[in-house]
Amino acid sequence: MNNNLNPNIRGLKKSATLAINERSKALAAQGKQIYKLGFGQSPFPVPMPVVEGLKEFAHTKDYLDVRGLLPLRKAISAYYQRKHQISCRAENIQIGPGSKELLFILQLVFDGDLLIPNPSWVSYSPQALMVGKKVVWLSTKSANNWMLTAEELEAICQKDPKRPRILILNYPSNPTGASYSRKQLQEMATVAQKYKVILLSDEIYGELNHTDQHLSIAHYYPEGTIISSGLSKWCGAGGWRLGFFIFPDQLSWIIDAMSIVASETFTSTSAPIQYAAIAAFEENPEIDQYLLDAQRILRFIGETIHSKLNSHQINSPKPQGGFYLFPDFSAYQSKLADQGITNSTQLCEQLLENTGVALLPSYDFGRPSDELTARLSYVDFDGAKALKLAQTTYQNKDLDQTFLDICCCEMLEAINKILVWLNDRIQKIC
Ligand code: PMP
Ligand code: GLU
Repeated sequence: MNNNLNPNIRGLKKSATLAINERSKALAAQGKQIYKLGFGQSPFPVPMPVVEGLKEFAHTKDYLDVRGLLPLRKAISAYYQRKHQISCRAENIQIGPGSKELLFILQLVFDGDLLIPNPSWVSYSPQALMVGKKVVWLSTKSANNWMLTAEELEAICQKDPKRPRILILNYPSNPTGASYSRKQLQEMATVAQKYKVILLSDEIYGELNHTDQHLSIAHYYPEGTIISSGLSKWCGAGGWRLGFFIFPDQLSWIIDAMSIVASETFTSTSAPIQYAAIAAFEENPEIDQYLLDAQRILRFIGETIHSKLNSHQINSPKPQGGFYLFPDFSAYQSKLADQGITNSTQLCEQLLENTGVALLPSYDFGRPSDELTARLSYVDFDGAKALKLAQTTYQNKDLDQTFLDICCCEMLEAINKILVWLNDRIQKIC
């Protein structure tokens, strides 16, 4: 290692999500059958009105305002009012090249600790470490779907009540697929308010709540909550790189500081993408239908895989939104140990090697290395075909086994491969 490497970067590796994506593609390119349940990206195409917007504005070429294109910020503001009954001013919205970049800049400008529930998405902690920030992992319990409770938050805040802190709450959750109830959000908001903890409410999977019932904690602690979202998940546009933060007036000092950093780093977000994104937030029955269909497809697939795994003692929280499951393989612990598998990294390595099924170890999400949990992204299916079918044959009909057979045959084969692999191990030993 070069001595001139910034110590904050030493020891960090390429983000686990991007690494598994690149590895899965490389293995597939070598001709191996790879089931891509490791990386988490939307299987659905970008809605047509948004694609049309990009065609229409492909010629736009000028640098835009640092905070973002005003008509886009106005469209987002109107969308939040209409869809979530959240009032926000266009001036209080910062557009960025992905919410990930904005999360990083937030960590840079805020002087205080980062609190994250364990497990949490892979990038929050490395970003904090890069800017020399202290990371406090908050413990959670599987009995609570691995979600944070108000008591757990209170216990940390009580220890040093005046300490400046940002807490990232991500719901529906990556990696568990679980979300918070109204009561849980209210209780958590009360504690955050009491200790003046700033909340970064990462709602990037909010529009993919499986029953279209996403509720933001901003309703209960508006003055201290920043909402984070973007096009990547619900609009199937991860590669477009467009995210945004919505601030309350009381936190204008943070958006101002972030805009300064933005002006000295990414300048502004791609002009054609910002113009095209306006269509995603305007009232449009076609986009409403797209979302409802995406939600019911994900709900059906998530529930099918969840119950299949559960019936083999591989438990996980029931999915409520997004496209992740967090299966726990501990029922197979001693059998796996006999094969030399004692942690989540080995579990995922062996599984990939033996079956071609890619998952991500829970270790990458902050769990203890010897815990036999992993993240499964149920996105390895043809989203365009699934949407089309949902909008035609299944327009007025519940999704069923035939739908799965047509759209997700390979992904269900992957689940069977996991089960056969585990049970093979049992049979070998018994
Ligand atoms: N938060 C969570 C929980 C995520 O899973 C992701 C993954 N892309 C992001 C934020 C960042 O998304 P983007 O940068 O594409 O807006
Ligand atoms: N958020 C996605 C995931 O968790 C991938 C994109 C990323 O990490 O930047 O798999």
